[in-house]
This record gives sequence, C-alpha cells and structure tokens, in this order.
Amino acid sequence: MTSIDKDIFENTAVAFAHKTDTELQKAKWLFSLIGNNKLVSLGTSLADFALKIHLPISPLFRITVYEHFCGGETFDECKQTIAKLHKSHVYAMLNYGVELKEREEDFDKTIEKNLEALEFAGKNKDVKVLCIKITGFGRFGLFEKMQAGKKLTKAETEELERVKDRLDKICQSAAKNDVSVYVDAEESWIQDPLDEMVEDMMAKFNHKKAVVFNTLQLYRWDRLDYLHKQLKASKSKGFILGAKLVRGAYMEKERDRAAQMGYNSPIHADKDAVDKDFNIAMNLCLDNLDHVSVCIASQSEESNMLAVKQIDAKKIDRKHPHILFSQLYGMGDNITFNLARLGFNASKYLPYGPVKDVIPYLIRRAQENTSVSGQMGRELRLLTTEIQRRKQK
Ligand SMILES: Cc1cc2nc3c(=O)[nH]c(=O)nc-3n(C[C@H](O)[C@H](O)[C@H](O)COP(=O)(O)OP(=O)(O)OC[C@H]3O[C@@H](n4cnc5c(N)ncnc54)[C@H](O)[C@@H]3O)c2cc1C
Repeated sequence: MTSIDKDIFENTAVAFAHKTDTELQKAKWLFSLIGNNKLVSLGTSLADFALKIHLPISPLFRITVYEHFCGGETFDECKQTIAKLHKSHVYAMLNYGVELKEREEDFDKTIEKNLEALEFAGKNKDVKVLCIKITGFGRFGLFEKMQAGKKLTKAETEELERVKDRLDKICQSAAKNDVSVYVDAEESWIQDPLDEMVEDMMAKFNHKKAVVFNTLQLYRWDRLDYLHKQLKASKSKGFILGAKLVRGAYMEKERDRAAQMGYNSPIHADKDAVDKDFNIAMNLCLDNLDHVSVCIASQSEESNMLAVKQIDAKKIDRKHPHILFSQLYGMGDNITFNLARLGFNASKYLPYGPVKDVIPYLIRRAQENTSVSGQMGRELRLLTTEIQRRKQK
C-alpha cells in the first residue's frame, strides 16, 4: 500500500494524464480568463442578457467552459467522458444540469431525464451516483411556504404530493438499477422540508445499502447536531445513513438574507469554524461506517489529506464501499486522480445536458473561481507545472 506523504496532491502527471497537450493549454487559458473578476462579471451580465433575448450563445459556451466542466449533451457523449475517467479508476456522479425551472411540465421532464439517466447508469458500472436537486422536482416557493409554517392550500397539498411521488419514483429506480441518489442541499430557508422528504426516502430504501443520500452543509452551525440526530435515527430505525458532506455553496446569499430580514445567520462566523465542523463530521462518519455511507465532497486539499490519513490511521480499507471522495469535473483533478491512484474510491460530479440549459451552472463555476480564495491560483499553478513537465520530457 502506497503511504501518504505531504506531496500526494502535487503529482501533476497523474492529475492530468487524461488530458492531451492541447486540452491542458486550453484549460490554462480558461482558468486565466475566469480568474479575471471584471471579465467574469461582464461576461455574466452579457450571458444573462443574451439568454433573455434568445441570442444563440450556446456554441461559444460549448467550446469554452462547457467542454471543460461538463460530460456532454447526450449519454453517448457522456460515455466518452466516463470511459476517460474509468481509465484512471475514477467513477462518475451524473447530474442533469438543468436548473431553475418552475412549471409542472418542466418538473415532469426533469424526472423523465433522471429516470433515463438511472437506466443508463444501471448499465454502466462506472456511474455510481445520480445527483439531484429537489427544486428540480417542485417549486421553490412551495418549500419556502412549508418551512415558514404557513398552511398549504388544497392545490398546494396536491402539488406537494406530486413532488413526493417524483422523488419516490427516482429512488425506486435507483434501487432497481443499483445506483445511489445524492440529493443536493440548497438554501437554508427551504432545507427543512427537503430534509424531511430525504429522511423518509432513506428510511424506505437504505436497508441493505445506502441508495439515498442527503447533503449536509457544514458551514451551517446546526448541521453537526443534525448529523448526530440522523446517526441516532439510523441506528434506532435500522437504515444506513447516506451523508454527502460539503461546506456549502450559498454563504453570501444566506448572510445577506439573514441581515436583511433581521434573523441570526445560519452560517458560521468564520472559515475556521466551518473547517472544524467539517473535520468532526468526517471523523464521526468514519467512526460509524457500519451505519453511515459517506461522500467527502470537497476540493480542499487539507480536508482530503486529513480524510485519507484518518482512513489509514483507523485501519479502514481504502476501498471501503461506504466511502467515496468527490470533486467537480474540471476542477481539483490533482485531488481526484491522485486519490484514485492511491486506491481510494474517487469520483467526479459530472453535469450533462443541453448547453443552453447548463449555462447557469457554468456561470456559477466561473464566479466561484474568482471568489474562492486560492482555488483559481492553484488550478493555474498545477496546469502550468504539468505543461512545463511535459516540455522537459
Ligand atoms: C461533489 C460536490 C458536490 C457538492 N454539492 C453541494 C450541495 O449539494 N450543496 C451545496 O451547498 N454545495 C455543494 N457543493 C459545493 C460546496 O458546498 C463548496 O461550496 C465547495 O466545494 C467549496 O468548498 P470546499 O470544501 O471544496 O473548499 P474550501 O475552499 O476549503 O472551502 C470553501 C468554502 O468554505 C466556506 N467558507 C469560506 N469562507 C467562509 C467564511 N468566511 N465563513 C464561513 N464559511 C466560509 C464556504 O462554504 C466556501 O464555499 C458541492 C461540491 C462538490 C465538490
């Protein structure tokens, strides 16, 4: 067994083995562009405007950000991406990247697409997971009203039943196809009803293995407590808790809303407190693998390093079926591919779908790369190192 040293994530030959020289140059160019705050903010406004007036901007997105961050528009295109990942023993977590729909027919279409994806995943052993958002199956405003404790009308109660049916269909198909469903965590002011629905699905489907996973955002100061409660429930009710651990993607939005509406922010006051909770949650899961299946979904080298050290120190099998690491496709390759090389279960969150529908996801990736401190610089540094290394060969 290869031992873990402090430089494991510096091996760029492993990190970028799946990329041709041209792809490396293109990735470097792309990260240089999206590292420019002014350019990203101008590009975002232009893209929003172009989408509103239906300008054909998809081809431009396709050859730039889409190809870097997405698996493909069709399953056939995704197959090629998945096969590339497979060569390096990296699994795929599929995500139908269409977001922000509000109509019943859109929700039904999303379900149809997700059921197709589950059938596809069932036939492809390298696709372990389908990632979903419950706001893809039902209206944001409905969940907001539920969490605010307001009484639903008869029509809204029926609407909610349809959301539950959709989720149930997805979980049933996942169980049948031997694929896991990871439910994304969203804004704190709709998360309670989403949690309840996912908890019901876990109790229903997670008896032999974890089919359904909830996501815990550890930037929330109440999530460790929630994890303890869920762990207790899984033990007493006899199901396996599926837990995807993330830090959380909506920090600014959460803080702004809390400030505007005058309630206590649900987000920790600083990053150190978030890191501390993330590490405690990770350890708690690793200490309870008989009851928890955990996905460590982070691009932080420190968190991943800590996880692998803990796994080895606790003498847990690196290929334990209840541990999966994951980073976004197109980012953190130094982590994913080196983890896979060392024998851990590693995966990529792989959005797919029509370019125009995935644009909001792509805009978020671009914005994230200007705002997440250190991340952009790190991607650029690693790409430059690999380009230099190949030149010197
Ligand atoms: C596979 C995968 C799935 C994901 N699924 C979800 C999901 O379902 N829901 C979701 O919300 N996010 C999700 N994310 C995004 C995730 O929550 C983070 O935004 C992102 O991964 C950055 O965190 P990190 O651990 O990778 O890296 P780091 O760089 O270590 O952490 C950055 C994060 O720390 C937190 N943070 C930074 N500064 C502060 C501060 N001053 N105070 C408090 N907190 C701070 C924020 O959450 C920020 O995003 C997912 C990420 C991955 C890789």
